[in-house]
Amino acid sequence: MPTLAVRDMRTLAVVVAGVMAGVTVAACSSGSDASPSTTASGAVTTSAPATTTTTTTISTSTTVAPTTSTSTITSTTSTSTSTSTSTSSTTSTTTSSSTTTSTTVAGSIPPLPEFAAIDALSFPVDTEIEIGRSVEGRPISVIRRGDPGGARVLAVGTIHGNEDAGTAIIDRLASEPVPAGVELWLVRSINPDGQARQDRQNANLVDLNRNFPHKWGYLGVEGDWQYAGTGPASEPETQAIVALGDSVRPDLILLYHQDLFRISPSSGRSGDARHRYAEITGLPLIEVSGGTYTGTASQWSNTVASEVGIGFTVELGETLTETDVTNHVAAVLAVATEFF
Ligand SMILES: [Zn+2]
Repeated sequence: MPTLAVRDMRTLAVVVAGVMAGVTVAACSSGSDASPSTTASGAVTTSAPATTTTTTTISTSTTVAPTTSTSTITSTTSTSTSTSTSTSSTTSTTTSSSTTTSTTVAGSIPPLPEFAAIDALSFPVDTEIEIGRSVEGRPISVIRRGDPGGARVLAVGTIHGNEDAGTAIIDRLASEPVPAGVELWLVRSINPDGQARQDRQNANLVDLNRNFPHKWGYLGVEGDWQYAGTGPASEPETQAIVALGDSVRPDLILLYHQDLFRISPSSGRSGDARHRYAEITGLPLIEVSGGTYTGTASQWSNTVASEVGIGFTVELGETLTETDVTNHVAAVLAVATEFF
């Protein structure tokens, strides 16, 4: 009686996650730090993370309706004649239609509960590791790739849920060979709840890009486009990426947004790196303005970067073509190898 091993289930689920991320590439949206965006309406909902345990495969003679996408995969890949599927799942009250799939994936990425105690050098390579959960229980994960001890890059594809084109850059970096001397830490999204709704904020209506602990300030109230939350790093999504940054101490931190199509200029080493990135991608160096910039990821990134490290925001345009993705990947690797 063949039974899918847990490892196989994880592999399948990670593939699902990759496909899902790919689907979102075309879903570029308006709304940026310089232009107010529509906020979510309706009640804030929460749910405990679902757990799914498939102990055996679906019988060919007895139909068991799959309740999760993992079960679906199991049933279609099995020719077994055995009997039962055991599924335990906390009922979600979220209004998002993609919750079932996402929470299934959530249970499939291996968690690393004692992350903070682990030296970044001993962190697993080429494995998707959960570093935290969103308000609604969706996973936030990192993949470490490349040359341990090389120039250390942390790239975050999505912070504002309706500005998620950067996830395509992360997916490409996660699939192509990494040049010698570069170590990648890749985070597709720290705002999977906002992404599911295509909203800027997380499920608590907090603008995560005003919730970082460095120079945090009270800003707005629930429903405001820049609502900063109840305190520094009050949100689980912020806490997850802050813990990762604290442990990894990257040389280069890249934070992707849309759709102002620019990189803010700077001086010194950071200015030179931004200029190089802009040169390769065709983005102009123009100041980002129009918002109140307290508790931003960009400000925080420079506090956790290595001694020589830098971090900055890349504002992509409305759309991101495959050629654009290629250029951004080239820019990431060029800055990493030339500056560190
Ligand atoms: Zn943004």
